[in-house]
Amino acid sequence: MDYEQMLQRALAQVPQREGSGERFELPKAFLEKAGRRTILVNLDEICQALRREQDHFIKFLLKELATKGEATGGRLFVLGVFSSEQINRKIELYVKTYVICPECGRPDTKLLREEKVYFLKCEACGARHPVV
Ligand SMILES: [Zn+2]
Repeated sequence: MDYEQMLQRALAQVPQREGSGERFELPKAFLEKAGRRTILVNLDEICQALRREQDHFIKFLLKELATKGEATGGRLFVLGVFSSEQINRKIELYVKTYVICPECGRPDTKLLREEKVYFLKCEACGARHPVV
């Protein structure tokens, strides 16, 4: 394999940037303010894009934001005032931890649970990693 091929291969393994169409697109939070609460209005879309269960994502998000919240009708009502930057950073962290394969950088993964341990199983390269 020559240098050019190696470079191509390395580039192919880098997760594609947002908007490139073909690969994974990081979902962005759409928020509404309601007094002392922040409403994540596109909870459904985010979880669909992440291909993860809402409960798992919600638990992570609320823990990260150190607050409480409740999901109703595809929206998440979060106690406290948060900016979309704050929430987007948590979505990104979630994706890095629970969606993107650490071996090949692809998002074609499944989150499996065995006993109390979660595993990230990659459908692209077959890697299996425990996640906390
Ligand atoms: Zn992989």
